Amino acid sequence: LVKIQSLHKSYGPHIQVLKGLDIEMKPGERVVVIGPSGGGKSTLLRVMMGLEKIDSGSIRFGGKPYISSESADKKTEIDTEVRRSIGMVFQHYTLFPHLSVIQNLILAPCKVRGEAKASATKRAQALLERFGLGAKANAYPAQLSGGQKQRVAIARALMLDPKLMLFDEVTSALDPELVAEVEQVILQLAAQDMPMMIVTHDMWFAKNIASRVIFCAGGVVVEDGPPEQVLGAPKEERTKDFIDRVF
Ligand code: ATP
Ligand code: MG
Repeated sequence: LVKIQSLHKSYGPHIQVLKGLDIEMKPGERVVVIGPSGGGKSTLLRVMMGLEKIDSGSIRFGGKPYISSESADKKTEIDTEVRRSIGMVFQHYTLFPHLSVIQNLILAPCKVRGEAKASATKRAQALLERFGLGAKANAYPAQLSGGQKQRVAIARALMLDPKLMLFDEVTSALDPELVAEVEQVILQLAAQDMPMMIVTHDMWFAKNIASRVIFCAGGVVVEDGPPEQVLGAPKEERTKDFIDRVF
């Protein structure tokens, strides 16, 4: 599904963040990415979304070349098509504050895809029901709890029928009692075989959602394997140190 090869990314001349990252993701896989703060996890997801220019390397998606060091300059139709098939939810809520929940959900489908308002609204309402937010369709983001906002953000990403979902610490800004409701929604998607890449510090969640865990540090993949190995019995010393300290 995704093939990342020798990805290099720096911010300016001095901050080299990704130093030759290789990751291959098969359809249906749920990859959890862990690693030290500042190690480039968010950068990786932003690059995959086409939000950051890279120095060198490439990303293929569904067999098609997608991201390369040139792609920020000349966006091709493939780039745009692929970008729209990837959904991302960030740590901090990114809902449009001046739009109601339902308006947040139907904006992109109507604008980008030209979907009729009635049809988008119907799909949006169904998604909200599924996520336990049916009664909040006409509320504004400021009237929602953090957990509700994140569930709306996930629903909004799903409105474009993504083939891959990226989650960047979507629960780390939440009060502990709200974490589970958001994680449940993501687990629900996992049960339907949605491919996803997830950055999280929550060990319970990582264990429950991952089909594979990747430990990134120093801009490269240090360890990559099943969750029982990487989280439970890491082979690399650096992974072991990190797991012992963080979890
Ligand atoms: P965390 O676990 O704290 O979220 P992370 O693994 O997501 O960390 P990134 O946010 O990808 O790490 O950041 C990697 C490095 O790149 C850090 O040193 C950070 O300061 C730097 N960085 C990130 N974004 C920018 C930017 N827009 N401009 C300059 N430097 C940046
Ligand atoms: Mg980050």
